[in-house]
Amino acid sequence: MRVIFLDLDRTLIGDDYSPQQGEPVVRSLLDAGFEVVLNSSKTRTEQEYYRKTWGLKGPFIVENGSAILIPEDYFPSEIIGHKWPRKEGYLIAELGKPYPEIKGHLDTIAPTYGLKYYGNSTLREIMEFTGLPENLAKLATEREYSETIFRWEREGFEMELNKKGLKVSRGSRFIGVTGDTDKGRAAKILLDLYSLHGPVESYAVGDGENDFPLFDVVDKAFMVGNLFHPKAMRINSIEELLGVIS
Ligand code: MG
Repeated sequence: MRVIFLDLDRTLIGDDYSPQQGEPVVRSLLDAGFEVVLNSSKTRTEQEYYRKTWGLKGPFIVENGSAILIPEDYFPSEIIGHKWPRKEGYLIAELGKPYPEIKGHLDTIAPTYGLKYYGNSTLREIMEFTGLPENLAKLATEREYSETIFRWEREGFEMELNKKGLKVSRGSRFIGVTGDTDKGRAAKILLDLYSLHGPVESYAVGDGENDFPLFDVVDKAFMVGNLFHPKAMRINSIEELLGVIS
């Protein structure tokens, strides 16, 4: 079985956040028999929007490795067992921290460092910072496990957040704040589940520093754009993937 983890921002979707750009690639991967797993800093409801458009039915990883969601009955019960809690039609493994705890720490230091993030921004400001259209900006505010820092006036907040046990990572556009998890940790747990079915070949595509831990846990990694990772083959755009992945 071939499992491919795909980042969203600036990998499958461009600056207009439209699902159109990524659709042919996702469809081609599905047609070729890949298990396509979105692994992004986006929230569950944002990813549900793309999943619906692209016809994805399998597991996905939200908010920078903070939770793995598997649609109920996707895996046979002898694989998954009874240890994963069920919520809203999914089996969920929560690896991160609850959102209110993360926002609480940010609220405490926000005045000192001039931080702007979802939890202290209006919908209008969020749309300006991110360029998200209104419908997707609303979905982005439905946060369960992480925050995204759009703007800061002073450095040093990262160390403050680390002291509180939070992880700070750089994505395509902004800075993510999560509990002690990352995209790679979540992907590894999911890969171990897939491997209970049989041999697994794993792939990942991303563009940002927060994809590096993901690259570390897969067999083959692909970097869209200019960053360097020792294991990742560089491609200019997601469309190039199909040419090099066979
Ligand atoms: Mg990205």
